[in-house]
Amino acid sequence: MADTLVKLANSPLTGRLVRALGLPSPIPLARASGGSTAQPFADRTVLLGGAPGGFATSEGRRALQGGGAVVLEALPAEEGRGLDVVLFDATGLAKPADARALYDFFHPVVRRLARNGRVLVLASLPEEAEAPAAAAVARGVEGFVRSLGKEAGRRGVTANLAYVARGAEERLAAVVRFFCCAPSTYVSGQAVRVTAEVRAPGAVPLHEALRGKVALVTGAARGIGAATAERLAQEGARVVCLDVPALEEALRATAKAVGGEALALDVTSPDAPARLVATLKERHGGVDVVVHNAGITRDRTLAKMTPEAWDQVLAVNLAAIVAADEALLASGALRDEGRLVYLSSISGVAGNFGQANYATSKAALIGYVAALAPRLAPRGICANAVAPGFIETAMVARMPLMTREVGRRLNSLSQGGQPRDVAELVTFLSTPGAFGLTGNTIRACGQGLIGA
Ligand code: NAD
Repeated sequence: MADTLVKLANSPLTGRLVRALGLPSPIPLARASGGSTAQPFADRTVLLGGAPGGFATSEGRRALQGGGAVVLEALPAEEGRGLDVVLFDATGLAKPADARALYDFFHPVVRRLARNGRVLVLASLPEEAEAPAAAAVARGVEGFVRSLGKEAGRRGVTANLAYVARGAEERLAAVVRFFCCAPSTYVSGQAVRVTAEVRAPGAVPLHEALRGKVALVTGAARGIGAATAERLAQEGARVVCLDVPALEEALRATAKAVGGEALALDVTSPDAPARLVATLKERHGGVDVVVHNAGITRDRTLAKMTPEAWDQVLAVNLAAIVAADEALLASGALRDEGRLVYLSSISGVAGNFGQANYATSKAALIGYVAALAPRLAPRGICANAVAPGFIETAMVARMPLMTREVGRRLNSLSQGGQPRDVAELVTFLSTPGAFGLTGNTIRACGQGLIGA
């Protein structure tokens, strides 16, 4: 859907009027259209900082340099070009007084951030801290980063936090690329956990990372699913696109556009798990990436909700996923080093008026990935959930006007996201380089206020 306010706020004719009326003034967000590049930091102004005693600084530097960055390690005296990327290692913070390092580093930096800049802060995992005070300071970093995201978001800046387990710092390369480049355009205020619990893959390509891999995307006829199929194909994956038979024409168009294949199948049909396994095994010998994206809403307040509306939503959004996974795992169709990604929702994080059925199904996925992840880690398989906020698709076009406008603006970037923005996060989590992340639920919501 078109966002007229972004156009009006950025037009020389109407921009001043928008500001005079006190309306939000969202800026156009930076987005890539093609696949990843080998040297994403080559033309960027990149600053690296760290508190004394941090254990992730050298891997952070290596990740930036590996992506072509000329890394600045002090803020340049003259105010030239704004800072495109700021990476700060806060893993050395151990005592309350150490938190001052965040202020000292970012106070002069914050006003020097470029439009659409990226901030990534690394912190120790609080539960690994030797003393409660150290855990407190590590956890405090999250409040700092979320506040920074809210303050700098009006310039399209995103700020995120990676908690890094000791021994997992060499898993940062792809994490730094994602959170410090255009793909994280609608991911802000997130705290992800990077751990060493998943068996490391044989190879970790950071560019065209899915070459030779087979991916399944459910609900791929349109919206986030279609964008995800396209994005995965750009990284080299062969994509099997699945959707209901009623949308077969649109499904075939998606499959053709991405050089993949179409599978018209209702995920709730009793034979769906067996047909999925048969298709993937017979045609491809198995599958490497599964994106459980198909989902529906049947909104009504609980008092007015029919049992059918409850059952349909739980069947598509939860039961069909669990059944498909059981079949994929029992049959061995999901290969070692596989990636499972589930489309949850901020309604699952926070609950939502009129969505008791939907929120139940989407919150269930958050619990599901947390429980599934450790079970699959020995096979090198990662399972993560993505919780989109307000994304401009057919799903939100059905909302009443005022609800839609409120949902669209109540985030740090004052605008809705595009299907591509969610597809970027899903694609990152689908790559071998995401082997440090499992059991996470990451929001693609522009740091929406709902559930924040
Ligand atoms: P969409 O309605 O545009 O697309 C969903 C697709 O899933 C459709 O093509 C639909 O036909 C397919 N599907 C539904 N039931 C199916 C079934 N039984 N079998 C096979 N396919 C089926 O929705 P979207 O906005 O692209 O959302 C994609 C996912 O992201 C959903 O899981 C949704 O809940 C989630 N999500 C979306 C938003 C948003 O703002 N758009 C926000 C939060 C979460």
